[in-house]
Amino acid sequence: MTKRLFEENAYIKEFTATVIDCQPAEHGFLVVLNETAFFPEGGGQAADGGTLNGVAVTDVQMKEDVIYHTTATPLTIGEQVVGVIDWQTRFARMQSHTAEHLVSGIVYREFGFSNMGFHMSDTTMTADFAGVLTAEDIAKVETLANTAVYENVAITVEVLSGDSLKAKEYRSKLDLDTDVRLVTITGYDCCACCAPHVNRTGEIGAIKILGFYPNKGGTRVEMTAGVNALQDYRFLHDQNKSLMGLLSAKRERVGETVAHLAETLKNTQNELRLLQQKLALASMETVEAGEILCAFVPNAAYDGLQSCVNTLSAPIRLVFSQTDDGWLYVAASEAGDVRPIIQKLNTAFGGRGGGKPNYGQGKLAVCDKADMVALLQNN
Ligand SMILES: [Zn+2]
Repeated sequence: MTKRLFEENAYIKEFTATVIDCQPAEHGFLVVLNETAFFPEGGGQAADGGTLNGVAVTDVQMKEDVIYHTTATPLTIGEQVVGVIDWQTRFARMQSHTAEHLVSGIVYREFGFSNMGFHMSDTTMTADFAGVLTAEDIAKVETLANTAVYENVAITVEVLSGDSLKAKEYRSKLDLDTDVRLVTITGYDCCACCAPHVNRTGEIGAIKILGFYPNKGGTRVEMTAGVNALQDYRFLHDQNKSLMGLLSAKRERVGETVAHLAETLKNTQNELRLLQQKLALASMETVEAGEILCAFVPNAAYDGLQSCVNTLSAPIRLVFSQTDDGWLYVAASEAGDVRPIIQKLNTAFGGRGGGKPNYGQGKLAVCDKADMVALLQNN
């Protein structure tokens, strides 16, 4: 069994321990120490990173009370080593994890919904609650959670078993009965948890709920806290500042200005499309090929070709427009079937596309206009 220093003191950044085992494994070596401050992956939290005598620790896992540190190079059994925890990452995780306890405790107290799942990424985390939360509920939870931060209340840890455990009310996802580690946020929450947390709520920093979504009949809440919340605020602030510059808009009018721009763009695009269709019609050049009337227009997309084909009158109408890499075409017929001629064109000029008897569209590879006309005339 490895002595778990992080359970007694979550603030150990550096420690000395003895290597009691080191075995080659799939991704390096598995090192066992007599005691460690490296938190192994568990309870929704990733394993700590850091070094052992300067050698990077790439993973930490616990099996049957033994903690295995994965290293790239072996360490000598019996040797004393200095372990250094990647403190910046670990502290951010302690802030996030404690924020999650606080939010879950508040949701339970205010609405009676249990936390059914928890996931922590490097910058955000999600908690799944067994009930539907509204936008108003979420705002209330966020305000209460941040109020608890301002109150800077103590967070304590105790390990209970037997009757004293039975007498205790606490949140837990598992049915536990012995040596249960309880993390209490004074006045807010008591929860069974194995991970390191901060000592007072003030250390969490800001807690921001980023979103909430329906999830398995309940609600998934996405949030960020502490240094991650500050990073997020910095990013959003910088982004807003650059948008203010680009739009020449005041901070509170960025959204309104973008909405106005989007509306203007939509109208301009519609006008442009109408003008392109008019231009295509005005510059259309027609060629007769038996019962087929075909037309060529410059720089038209499918919708422009559709407008053109609707102005023509013949049993079968075809309109083409040249592009950088071939020809777009649209075919239409009221009485006949456009599919045989489309197939012929596709076969002769490396095309693809098709449609129904009275309408079809597609694209041909690069080819000569004269060859296309000849094929249609000899059809
Ligand atoms: Zn926890």
